Amino acid sequence: MKNIIFIAPPATGKSTQSKMLVEKYHYNHISTSNLLRKEVSDNTPLANDIKKMIDAGNLVSDEIVTKLLEVELKKISGPFVLDGYPRNIIQAKNLELILKKNNLNINYIIYIDIKLDEAIKRVKGRLICPQCNKVYNTHNNIMKPKHDNICDICLIKLIVRPDDNEEAYKKRYNIFVNEIKPLLEYYNEKGVLSVIEDSLYPDETFNKIEKIIL
Ligand SMILES: [Zn+2]
Repeated sequence: MKNIIFIAPPATGKSTQSKMLVEKYHYNHISTSNLLRKEVSDNTPLANDIKKMIDAGNLVSDEIVTKLLEVELKKISGPFVLDGYPRNIIQAKNLELILKKNNLNINYIIYIDIKLDEAIKRVKGRLICPQCNKVYNTHNNIMKPKHDNICDICLIKLIVRPDDNEEAYKKRYNIFVNEIKPLLEYYNEKGVLSVIEDSLYPDETFNKIEKIIL
Protein backbone atom coordinates (compact mmCIF):
# COMPACT_ATOMS: atom_id res chain seq x y z
CA MET A 1 0.00 0.00 0.00
CA LYS A 2 1.14 3.49 -0.83
CA ASN A 3 1.01 6.71 1.16
CA ILE A 4 -1.28 9.45 -0.08
CA ILE A 5 -1.90 13.15 0.38
CA PHE A 6 -5.37 14.50 -0.37
CA ILE A 7 -5.70 18.14 -1.33
CA ALA A 8 -9.17 19.50 -2.02
CA PRO A 9 -11.26 22.67 -1.80
CA PRO A 10 -13.83 22.88 1.01
CA ALA A 11 -17.14 21.00 0.33
CA THR A 12 -15.53 18.12 -1.52
CA GLY A 13 -15.85 14.68 0.00
CA LYS A 14 -12.21 14.56 1.11
CA SER A 15 -12.86 13.20 4.59
CA THR A 16 -15.43 10.69 3.28
CA GLN A 17 -12.80 9.40 0.84
CA SER A 18 -10.25 9.15 3.65
CA LYS A 19 -12.72 7.12 5.71
CA MET A 20 -13.31 4.79 2.76
CA LEU A 21 -9.55 4.17 2.49
CA VAL A 22 -9.48 3.39 6.21
CA GLU A 23 -12.38 0.95 5.94
CA LYS A 24 -11.43 -0.84 2.75
CA TYR A 25 -7.63 -0.80 2.87
CA HIS A 26 -6.89 -0.14 6.56
CA TYR A 27 -5.20 3.16 5.93
CA ASN A 28 -4.28 5.43 8.82
CA HIS A 29 -6.13 8.70 8.37
CA ILE A 30 -4.05 11.63 9.54
CA SER A 31 -6.00 14.87 9.61
CA THR A 32 -4.07 17.81 10.98
CA SER A 33 -7.26 19.54 12.11
CA ASN A 34 -8.22 16.44 14.10
CA LEU A 35 -4.73 16.35 15.63
CA LEU A 36 -5.12 19.97 16.73
CA ARG A 37 -8.60 19.36 18.12
CA LYS A 38 -7.33 16.35 20.06
CA GLU A 39 -4.48 18.37 21.60
CA VAL A 40 -7.05 20.87 22.87
CA SER A 41 -9.52 18.31 24.18
CA ASP A 42 -6.74 16.30 25.89
CA ASN A 43 -5.48 19.54 27.44
CA THR A 44 -1.85 18.82 26.55
CA PRO A 45 0.98 21.34 27.15
CA LEU A 46 0.37 22.73 23.62
CA ALA A 47 -3.39 23.08 24.09
CA ASN A 48 -3.29 26.66 25.37
CA ASP A 49 -1.15 27.96 22.51
CA ILE A 50 -3.37 26.23 19.94
CA LYS A 51 -6.55 27.60 21.52
CA LYS A 52 -5.15 31.13 21.59
CA MET A 53 -4.27 31.03 17.89
CA ILE A 54 -7.64 29.58 16.89
CA ASP A 55 -9.63 31.99 19.09
CA ALA A 56 -7.77 34.92 17.55
CA GLY A 57 -8.84 33.67 14.12
CA ASN A 58 -5.29 32.75 13.16
CA LEU A 59 -3.96 29.59 11.60
CA VAL A 60 -1.99 27.45 13.99
CA SER A 61 1.75 27.92 13.43
CA ASP A 62 3.64 25.62 11.07
CA GLU A 63 5.94 24.76 13.96
CA ILE A 64 3.16 23.26 16.08
CA VAL A 65 1.43 21.46 13.22
CA THR A 66 4.72 19.99 12.05
CA LYS A 67 5.56 18.81 15.55
CA LEU A 68 2.20 17.06 16.01
CA LEU A 69 2.46 15.48 12.59
CA GLU A 70 5.89 14.07 13.32
CA VAL A 71 4.70 12.50 16.59
CA GLU A 72 1.72 10.98 14.79
CA LEU A 73 3.80 9.56 11.94
CA LYS A 74 6.05 7.84 14.47
CA LYS A 75 3.04 6.25 16.17
CA ILE A 76 1.37 4.65 13.17
CA SER A 77 2.24 1.57 11.18
CA GLY A 78 0.98 0.79 7.69
CA PRO A 79 -0.05 3.16 4.91
CA PHE A 80 -1.45 6.59 5.65
CA VAL A 81 -3.54 9.24 3.99
CA LEU A 82 -2.71 12.77 4.96
CA ASP A 83 -5.55 15.27 4.84
CA GLY A 84 -5.29 19.02 5.40
CA TYR A 85 -1.52 19.25 5.16
CA PRO A 86 0.57 20.60 3.46
CA ARG A 87 -1.20 23.78 2.39
CA ASN A 88 1.87 25.60 1.04
CA ILE A 89 5.39 24.96 -0.20
CA ILE A 90 7.00 25.70 3.16
CA GLN A 91 4.85 23.02 4.78
CA ALA A 92 5.59 20.66 1.89
CA LYS A 93 9.32 21.07 2.53
CA ASN A 94 8.82 20.57 6.29
CA LEU A 95 6.95 17.40 5.51
CA GLU A 96 9.76 16.15 3.25
CA LEU A 97 12.23 16.61 6.12
CA ILE A 98 10.05 14.71 8.60
CA LEU A 99 9.44 11.89 6.15
CA LYS A 100 13.12 11.56 5.34
CA LYS A 101 14.05 11.46 9.04
CA ASN A 102 11.56 8.64 9.56
CA ASN A 103 12.31 6.71 6.39
CA LEU A 104 8.87 7.35 4.97
CA ASN A 105 7.72 8.68 1.65
CA ILE A 106 4.62 9.91 -0.13
CA ASN A 107 3.66 8.06 -3.29
CA TYR A 108 0.61 9.95 -4.50
CA ILE A 109 -0.64 13.47 -4.18
CA ILE A 110 -4.26 13.53 -5.25
CA TYR A 111 -6.04 16.81 -5.89
CA ILE A 112 -9.80 16.29 -5.63
CA ASP A 113 -11.13 19.11 -7.76
CA ILE A 114 -14.62 20.57 -7.75
CA LYS A 115 -16.03 23.35 -9.92
CA LEU A 116 -17.29 26.37 -8.02
CA ASP A 117 -20.90 26.13 -9.28
CA GLU A 118 -21.15 22.45 -8.37
CA ALA A 119 -19.64 23.14 -4.95
CA ILE A 120 -22.17 25.92 -4.34
CA LYS A 121 -25.07 23.57 -5.15
CA ARG A 122 -23.78 21.15 -2.54
CA VAL A 123 -23.24 23.82 0.06
CA LYS A 124 -26.72 25.23 -0.50
CA GLY A 125 -28.26 21.77 -0.21
CA ARG A 126 -26.58 20.97 3.08
CA LEU A 127 -28.81 20.55 6.14
CA ILE A 128 -27.86 19.36 9.57
CA CYS A 129 -29.81 17.89 12.46
CA PRO A 130 -29.38 20.12 15.54
CA GLN A 131 -29.83 17.10 17.80
CA CYS A 132 -27.75 14.21 16.34
CA ASN A 133 -25.59 16.32 13.95
CA LYS A 134 -26.33 14.04 10.99
CA VAL A 135 -25.62 15.86 7.73
CA TYR A 136 -28.12 15.71 4.84
CA ASN A 137 -27.96 17.12 1.35
CA THR A 138 -30.94 17.89 -0.83
CA HIS A 139 -28.63 18.18 -3.86
CA ASN A 140 -27.80 14.47 -3.60
CA ASN A 141 -30.45 11.72 -3.83
CA ILE A 142 -28.52 9.42 -1.50
CA MET A 143 -28.20 12.09 1.19
CA LYS A 144 -31.73 13.52 1.09
CA PRO A 145 -33.81 13.20 4.25
CA LYS A 146 -36.78 10.81 3.85
CA HIS A 147 -39.20 13.67 4.58
CA ASP A 148 -38.44 17.23 3.52
CA ASN A 149 -36.43 19.10 6.17
CA ILE A 150 -36.92 16.45 8.87
CA CYS A 151 -34.19 14.29 10.49
CA ASP A 152 -34.78 10.59 9.68
CA ILE A 153 -33.69 9.61 13.17
CA CYS A 154 -34.85 12.36 15.52
CA LEU A 155 -37.89 13.47 13.49
CA ILE A 156 -37.13 17.13 14.20
CA LYS A 157 -36.59 20.04 11.82
CA LEU A 158 -33.19 20.28 10.10
CA ILE A 159 -31.20 23.52 10.10
CA VAL A 160 -28.69 25.25 7.81
CA ARG A 161 -25.22 25.75 9.29
CA PRO A 162 -24.42 29.47 9.54
CA ASP A 163 -21.21 29.20 7.48
CA ASP A 164 -23.01 27.29 4.72
CA ASN A 165 -24.06 30.35 2.76
CA GLU A 166 -23.09 31.06 -0.81
CA GLU A 167 -21.09 34.25 -0.23
CA ALA A 168 -19.05 32.85 2.65
CA TYR A 169 -18.36 29.67 0.72
CA LYS A 170 -17.32 31.51 -2.46
CA LYS A 171 -14.84 33.49 -0.43
CA ARG A 172 -13.35 30.38 1.21
CA TYR A 173 -13.22 28.59 -2.13
CA ASN A 174 -11.41 31.41 -3.92
CA ILE A 175 -8.90 31.89 -1.12
CA PHE A 176 -8.20 28.17 -1.13
CA VAL A 177 -7.77 27.90 -4.89
CA ASN A 178 -5.38 30.86 -5.01
CA GLU A 179 -3.33 29.71 -2.06
CA ILE A 180 -3.01 26.13 -3.25
CA LYS A 181 -1.90 26.92 -6.82
CA PRO A 182 1.86 27.18 -6.12
CA LEU A 183 1.76 23.92 -4.13
CA LEU A 184 0.03 22.07 -6.98
CA GLU A 185 2.62 23.42 -9.42
CA TYR A 186 5.38 22.30 -7.06
CA TYR A 187 4.03 18.73 -6.93
CA ASN A 188 3.23 18.70 -10.62
CA GLU A 189 6.86 19.50 -11.44
CA LYS A 190 7.94 16.60 -9.25
CA GLY A 191 5.62 14.34 -11.27
CA VAL A 192 3.64 13.09 -8.27
CA LEU A 193 0.37 14.97 -8.74
CA SER A 194 -2.88 13.36 -9.91
CA VAL A 195 -6.00 15.45 -10.41
CA ILE A 196 -9.50 13.97 -10.29
CA GLU A 197 -12.93 15.57 -10.39
CA ASP A 198 -15.05 14.97 -7.28
CA SER A 199 -18.25 13.14 -8.22
CA LEU A 200 -21.55 13.78 -6.49
CA TYR A 201 -21.52 10.16 -5.32
CA PRO A 202 -18.66 9.06 -3.05
CA ASP A 203 -18.33 5.58 -4.66
CA GLU A 204 -17.58 7.15 -8.05
CA THR A 205 -14.85 9.35 -6.62
CA PHE A 206 -13.45 6.37 -4.72
CA ASN A 207 -13.23 4.37 -7.98
CA LYS A 208 -11.14 7.15 -9.49
CA ILE A 209 -8.82 7.08 -6.48
CA GLU A 210 -8.47 3.30 -6.63
CA LYS A 211 -7.47 3.54 -10.29
CA ILE A 212 -4.58 5.77 -9.27
CA ILE A 213 -3.32 3.89 -6.23
CA LEU A 214 -3.86 0.22 -7.11
ZN1 LIG B 1 -31.19 13.81 14.13
